Amino acid sequence: MRTGYDLELVHLTKRYGATVAVRDINHVFAPGSYVCLLGPSGCGKSSTLRMIAGHEEVSEGSILLEGADVSHLPPAKRGTAMMFQNYALFPHLSVRDNVAFSLRMKGVDKPTRHARANELLALVDMTHLADRLPTQLSGGQQQRVALARALVTEPKVLLLDEPLSALDPFLRIRMRSELKKLQRELGITFIHVTHGQDEALALADEIVVMNDAVIEQAGPAREVWAKPRTEFVARFIGGHNVIALPGGKATVRADAVTLATAGLPATVTAVEYQGASVAVSTTTESGDEVLALIPEDQFFAHPKSPGEAVRLSWDEERLHRLMA
Ligand code: ADP
Repeated sequence: MRTGYDLELVHLTKRYGATVAVRDINHVFAPGSYVCLLGPSGCGKSSTLRMIAGHEEVSEGSILLEGADVSHLPPAKRGTAMMFQNYALFPHLSVRDNVAFSLRMKGVDKPTRHARANELLALVDMTHLADRLPTQLSGGQQQRVALARALVTEPKVLLLDEPLSALDPFLRIRMRSELKKLQRELGITFIHVTHGQDEALALADEIVVMNDAVIEQAGPAREVWAKPRTEFVARFIGGHNVIALPGGKATVRADAVTLATAGLPATVTAVEYQGASVAVSTTTESGDEVLALIPEDQFFAHPKSPGEAVRLSWDEERLHRLMA
């Protein structure tokens, strides 16, 4: 019995000719969770998502949804739905007809599919614009329509490929909290591809960090941030310094580094005011770059400038050893 397992990837591999885009990955996505697939461009996130959606053939391995192998089913038969980066709305159809489209394909009668589309439009707060065409909508409104259209099929898993990348920074932050709220209300699994660590930290119950076609680390957002397993994760997730120690490497959070009278000698290379804190970039005598995030009141009590000599200090217990 696999009850309780929502979506499982088993030895999943994707090849495009000689390129291995996804290499033998295994993962269980917990039911009803918000998961971010995070990693740099080209690491295999979209290929993974598209294989789950059924928009890309699996080269090897399988995809199980509630225990059933869906690897070779067409997209509409899987219990998943995908929201694309560019929303891919039909320009000649009204908002309501866009949302009802997949029900029309399934042969659902017009009154039923319109009633269902109206429910979904209410869910995303778009009832008042149901008769407009997509070109008459803002980016944020188009995104809501795309969401409603993906959700109309009542998927068990919603797949979102860089859903916020087309929005301006202000709207991006607003829409991400709406996505999170929607996921909580619906209680289904959202798998959201992003290359933005801030976005992943803000949204995800679980972060799956990919690098070079494999899963580098997966876990609750706070665990991945506080306990990166590898140097790659530490550097990619941000806010950490990687320090060489005898017998390996360790991280120390930038907000755990202080400028003290004793400690590791370094030279300030840049100072960036960030509001609540000041980011002080330094280079140590051995050439390591170390970032210190200093609360703004402390910094301005003893301001530093580029070129100045400083001493860096942190508590030993704030060092976190890396596995690789
Ligand atoms: P990401 O979403 O993390 O940017 P992708 O899954 O899009 O990564 O791509 C992973 C790798 O597979 C990259 O090297 C990319 O160039 C390659 N790739 C992706 N799609 C195709 C394709 N249709 N044909 C050939 N190579 C592809």
